[in-house]
Amino acid sequence: LDAAEAAIVVMENDETFDAGRGSFLNADGQVELDAGFMCGDGLRVGAVAGVQFIRNPIRLARAVMEQSEHVLLVAQGAQRFAHKLGFETCDLTDLAIPREFERWQKLLYDRTYSARASFAAGWGDEQVRSARGRGADTVGCVALDAEGHIAAGTSTGGTPNKMPGRVGDVPMVGCGFYADDALGGTSTTGWGESIAKVLLARLALQFLEQTDDPDHATRAAIAVLGEKVNGLGGVILLAPDGRLAWHYNTPHMAVAYHTAGMEAPHTSL
Ligand code: ASP
Repeated sequence: LDAAEAAIVVMENDETFDAGRGSFLNADGQVELDAGFMCGDGLRVGAVAGVQFIRNPIRLARAVMEQSEHVLLVAQGAQRFAHKLGFETCDLTDLAIPREFERWQKLLYDRTYSARASFAAGWGDEQVRSARGRGADTVGCVALDAEGHIAAGTSTGGTPNKMPGRVGDVPMVGCGFYADDALGGTSTTGWGESIAKVLLARLALQFLEQTDDPDHATRAAIAVLGEKVNGLGGVILLAPDGRLAWHYNTPHMAVAYHTAGMEAPHTSL
C-alpha cells in the first residue's frame, strides 16, 4: 500500500501528468480531482471524486479506505473528511499551471473538440501545442509485496474542459482500478466514459482468471473496449505471481516497472 501510494504521490506532484498539480481544468477553469485505491487483501476500497484544493487525492482515497466505512466520497463531503483528518488544503494555482490555463482558454472556443478525439491524438509537438492533444495523462500504480498482497491505485484530473461535476472511470472500483490478491491488480487510463462502460480494470482480471496469460488478458480487455464502445484506453496488470503486462489502443502510454533484483526501472513509451 505504501509503495503504490508513494509512486502515485510522486506523479501527482509532477506537473507532467494529468493528476494533482498539472491536471486539466474543467469548463469553469477549476481543478476537480478523482482517485481510487484498493487493497487486494480483503478487497478494501477507498475513492474520492470531484475534490478540489487537495494536492494528493490518492492519499485521501486511501484514508477513505482505511478510516471511513465508505468506499467513495465526493466533492464537499470528501473535502470535509480531508479537513477532519488534517489534510492541508491548497490554492487553485498550486494545482493549475499556465500550460493548462492556456489549453482551457483555447478549448473554450474550439467548437469541434471532443474528449474522445483528444485520446486519439498523439504526443507529437504539433498535437500538444494545438491544445487538443495531450502531453501526458492520468497516473496509476499496481504493487505486489513479498507476502503476496496487491495494492492498486489511480489518480486523475479527468478530461480537458469536462463539465463541472463530471466523474470518470478513475474513482469507480472495477473501472479505473482493481486489486484482489487471488486475481491480480490493474490500473487503467483513457477515455473514462468508455472505460466505465466495460469495467476495464475488472475485465482484464476476468480474462486473466480465464486464461492465466497476463499479456492475453490485457489485449482481450482492450479489444472489448474498442469493439463494444469504440473506446480508447490502456491498462497495466500485475498477476498474483508477479508476471506483468500492459496494453493500450491509444497512440501512446508511458509505463515503468521495477521488480526485485532490477537495478533500475524498465520504462517504455
Ligand atoms: N480516465 C480519465 C478520465 O476519464 C482520464 C485519463 O485517463 O486520461 O477521467
